[in-house]
Amino acid sequence: MESLKLKSKLLYLLLLVGFGLTVVGLIGYFNIQNIKRHMDTLYFGSLLPLNELSLITDTYQNDLAITVYRWNNHLISDDDAAQKISVGLEKIQQGWSNYLSHPKRPEEMPYVDYTESQMDLVGNYFTQLRSIILDPKLSHPISLATLNDNLQSIHETLHRLSIYESAAAQYEHSELMARYQNALLQLILFLVVILIFVMGLAWKIFARIELQQQQLIESTETLQHLNLKLEQASYTDSLTALYNRRYFNVVYEREFKRALRSGKPFVFMMLDIDYFKQYNDTYGHLQGDQALQAVAKTLKNTFQRPGDYPFRLGGEEFGVILTDTDCTNARLMGEKVRANIESLKIEHKGSKILPTLSVSIGGICIVPTALMGDDALIHAADTNLYAAKERGRNQVVFGNKL
Ligand code: GH3
Ligand code: MG
Ligand code: MG
Repeated sequence: MESLKLKSKLLYLLLLVGFGLTVVGLIGYFNIQNIKRHMDTLYFGSLLPLNELSLITDTYQNDLAITVYRWNNHLISDDDAAQKISVGLEKIQQGWSNYLSHPKRPEEMPYVDYTESQMDLVGNYFTQLRSIILDPKLSHPISLATLNDNLQSIHETLHRLSIYESAAAQYEHSELMARYQNALLQLILFLVVILIFVMGLAWKIFARIELQQQQLIESTETLQHLNLKLEQASYTDSLTALYNRRYFNVVYEREFKRALRSGKPFVFMMLDIDYFKQYNDTYGHLQGDQALQAVAKTLKNTFQRPGDYPFRLGGEEFGVILTDTDCTNARLMGEKVRANIESLKIEHKGSKILPTLSVSIGGICIVPTALMGDDALIHAADTNLYAAKERGRNQVVFGNKL
């Protein structure tokens, strides 16, 4: 369930990244289109027309005026001058058509029309001049003042149009720059917004993953703890809280093999409460249980070393495995636990040997060999226990031979 949520969050993240990139791409595309349009307007609407106007002005000045001056000074022939004027007028006509072909703003049209009418007038003047030049009846000189007036007037008109185009170009340029900066700002803004969203979502996802990992670790630890408890419960006797018969089987087999390998003595002793049937008969089963608990507690207190294992084998029978001791000490420990139980001084009127509760102990201390059967030591301890009972109970019989 959690991983499903995580998957859908990751999907959101991917969708968000995809959507964000698409939006940024679209914004970028439209902005570039916009900038291109402005650049076209700037180039074709203002810069190229400026060029055409300057060409026209040059033609008036250099082609037409100079031709007339030279003809007036007899430097070129009539035909040549007429020819040059025709070419110049055609060039101006062409230049003007080119100028008109570029896009125009409505507000500049009146001035364009005015310029055209002025050019027509000056054009007529030069056409007349050419007729005069070609007329054999008429001859030089012509009035240079009229020529200069015409040139002056058309030059000023064209110059004003150029100033207008130049101002328009500057305006277009500033517009273009504003658009460019706007586009850049939009792009940065969108990228930042998308980045913040993506980072926020990613942070949330990673926080969730971390939380889940933490929960997993915690539940694993709980599980391990429960397993340990379960294991302990399955190895513990519920009445006395000593290790039970099941754990005895495990420890017996393990320690028997260990002693076989190490060559160290293996100690096992069995304890049986004396006349316990009578104890139950006298004091009742419940008090019998309490007596079992008291004996178990004494066993626990007596055998406290890490290698000591006291067990309740069943009923009123107990067993002890000692793994890290020698035979002399093992015998002493057997005697010690017997004395400790006697000194509990639990009243036992039904006992035929003492007025208090006692135990008989049969023990074996031996270095195991491979020839020994699996439960040879259990039999030996049992035999010695039987011997302790036979000899009068409340005593320890220990052997170191099978
Ligand atoms: P001996 O000295 O020969 O060992 O005599 P005994 O009476 O102790 O021997 P026996 O094995 O005949 O009796 C064992 C008694 O232990 C029988 C039963 O009433 C008692 N017993 C076994 N398990 C429990 C238990 O869990 N609680 C109580 N209260 N009594 C138990
Ligand atoms: Mg018994
Ligand atoms: Mg008994």
